[in-house]
Amino acid sequence: MKEDLMDIICCPLDKHDLELEVIRRDEDDEILEGRLVCTECGEEYPIEDGIPNLLPPDMRDEAAA
Ligand SMILES: [Zn+2]
Repeated sequence: MKEDLMDIICCPLDKHDLELEVIRRDEDDEILEGRLVCTECGEEYPIEDGIPNLLPPDMRDEAAA
């Protein structure tokens, strides 16, 4: 994902801003791996293969089942 996506996305639970923690970027500065942490509720959303997973935690479990 591009870092300017941060302007658009927010916590799906409470619509607060997310804090970006980058683990890995590619040569075009795209974020491949990292975490988005809600500044309000502290929920963490993983970024995997450049795609932020913004599903709330309970829905995430359902999708995996
Ligand atoms: Zn939140």
